[in-house]
Amino acid sequence: MSRWIRGGSIYDVHTGTYRRQDIEIAEGRIARLANTARPAAGDDVIDAKGAFLLPGLIDCHVHLCMPTEAANPDNPWRGQPAGAVAIYAAEAARRTLLAGITTARDVGGWDYHEIAVRGAINRGIIPGPRLFCAGRLLSITTATVDYYPGMYEVADGPDEIRRAARRQLAQGADFIKIMATGALTSSEYEDSRAIQYTLEEIKVAVAIAEDNYKYVAAHAHAEAGIRNAALAGCRSIEHGSFGNEEIYGVMAEKGTYLVPTCCVVSAMLADNQVSATVPRHIHQRYVEFDEIHLKNVGLAKRCGVPIAMGTDAGTPGNHHGDNAQELVSMVRGAGLSPHESVAAATIDAARLLRQEANLGSLEVGKFADVIALAEDPLARIEAVRDVRLVMKGGAVVRDDLAA
Ligand SMILES: [Zn+2]
Repeated sequence: MSRWIRGGSIYDVHTGTYRRQDIEIAEGRIARLANTARPAAGDDVIDAKGAFLLPGLIDCHVHLCMPTEAANPDNPWRGQPAGAVAIYAAEAARRTLLAGITTARDVGGWDYHEIAVRGAINRGIIPGPRLFCAGRLLSITTATVDYYPGMYEVADGPDEIRRAARRQLAQGADFIKIMATGALTSSEYEDSRAIQYTLEEIKVAVAIAEDNYKYVAAHAHAEAGIRNAALAGCRSIEHGSFGNEEIYGVMAEKGTYLVPTCCVVSAMLADNQVSATVPRHIHQRYVEFDEIHLKNVGLAKRCGVPIAMGTDAGTPGNHHGDNAQELVSMVRGAGLSPHESVAAATIDAARLLRQEANLGSLEVGKFADVIALAEDPLARIEAVRDVRLVMKGGAVVRDDLAA
């Protein structure tokens, strides 16, 4: 028995065009794309007439364990029982999936609760996206460790970095996340523009990752930090705010992905309660950096840097389940075309994850991760925020098509 999605227009992520075809799904994968469906007796048929069908979206930068309702990110779990984190992350995963994000990369968890969530999702116990996890992120000694004690693994110098990277892999990490520069949502005693890990230290993390067939994702805002991460061989740069033509040129040449997280500031400002109570030093940094960051994402794109969608869901007001807002921010804020934005959230994100054989496009042999929209996102990118059908691995997790 197979399942069909009939009557929809299929988005081709390679060309940015639609084809009127029906999708046959068997054993969780796309078995056939047919001009006219011929369902067998007993086949399950989903009527998607008039809908726009896209591959399930991929968010390459989330923090499932971080509560977005907390305006002050200073250790949100202080005084809470450990289980509260796992329950929050499980619910965040469910909301993320229902928004059409069928795959997500967690770039900094909390005491490995997100790895437990990944396991429960994979075993079919709870709903959630396919998860790729970093475990704890590697950081130099910095004031922000007190902000995120469950997320940070302090490691200074090559020996400690080797040990810390190996500890994440032993906990089940899919890749290694490092802090190449300071962070915006950090303690006021941390300079968000400061260089943190040196080029030599980053190279050590990359070597350990590559020895284990994994890669490194580097958080970097400041110019020199982006350059260090790209030169050391990191696979992705997170944020990449303060680059310039020369530095984005280095990324383009090395094929380093930029995960731009364009929606962080607009998401915070859109939530009045969070915005009014977020610590002043964070509010100030956000607003000061937003314009230049968005402008630079556009510059990076023009320099030929491959872009993969990432929201940073988990920062204040950047709610789990609002992830598709990032596609809107990439278009309205950074000036990408709607097609570039959708490609960043599908095929290019799949390439960053080294999952392009399984994910990122609606092609025969790939997982049947499909979303349906009522409106064409090429005409109006905001359409991605109104998801009518979510299918993951051929299983329907949400169906409002009839409504
Ligand atoms: Zn982040």
